[in-house]
Amino acid sequence: MKLTFLGTGAAEGIPSPFCDCPGCEYARAHGGRNVRRRQSVLVNDDMLIDFGPDIFPSCAALGLSLCGLKHLLVTHSHADHFNVDHLKMRSRPFRLSTELPEMTMIAGPSVWSKWSELGGSDQGAGIRRRIILPRQSLELPEYSIASLAACHHLQIGDAMNYIIDDGTVKLLYASDSGYYDEPVWKELQNHYFDAVILEGTIWNRPAGREHLNEGDFVRMKDRLRSIGAITDETLVIATHFSHQSVDSHENLEKSVAWHGARCAYDGMTVEIVPVKK
Ligand SMILES: [Zn+2]
Ligand SMILES: [Zn+2]
Ligand SMILES: [Zn+2]
Repeated sequence: MKLTFLGTGAAEGIPSPFCDCPGCEYARAHGGRNVRRRQSVLVNDDMLIDFGPDIFPSCAALGLSLCGLKHLLVTHSHADHFNVDHLKMRSRPFRLSTELPEMTMIAGPSVWSKWSELGGSDQGAGIRRRIILPRQSLELPEYSIASLAACHHLQIGDAMNYIIDDGTVKLLYASDSGYYDEPVWKELQNHYFDAVILEGTIWNRPAGREHLNEGDFVRMKDRLRSIGAITDETLVIATHFSHQSVDSHENLEKSVAWHGARCAYDGMTVEIVPVKK
């Protein structure tokens, strides 16, 4: 399974144009990996996780086309993960000469309401609708998908993390979420992951309920290991960083590496290989 990180920043991105915190000022001055677009991850070449407001600059910067996209998996309806107006650009009037495959979009009810309320059309954008709720699973020709209740966007209640199996490896996509509730840990006992994408939104800030700081990132990783869902060999990738929680990519990378994980940056590609249990 190949992963391409299109964006690795939280809602405001880094640098936020409206902020002069140390993280933003450093990113403005130094550019490169310090700059983080809003989060999205491409799985192989045919499945995208989340469709935020930076999809277009990300694809342009990385020389990527999404013409081969067959599946779109959406975690929740926050603006940094789902942008209706940009997704409408898949419609026929905006790509006259290009034939696209039908794209299965898998998302919870609040994402679908946002899509409908803001004028999205399944038929217009070539979308096959699959509604998913936390604790459900579904089969696609190339993937098995299972959803977990994320500890996030709690006043709405349908934010999800996903388990993605492409037949060769199994990935846990754990963003956005705070430390999981106990029922989720019970579900995870039956799984073994070759890789985990784990958020670190509020890395150097005090702990929060709906995002992970450094301490909770470590608690999640340790708990996954203690229930046998990962081993020390499993690749754990940290992502979804807020400008107010980092100073530089270099320091963040060192801090993440200290916990045996890899720090994602925009444009990073990783080939996930099966890990022996
Ligand atoms: Zn987010
Ligand atoms: Zn800032
Ligand atoms: Zn969110």
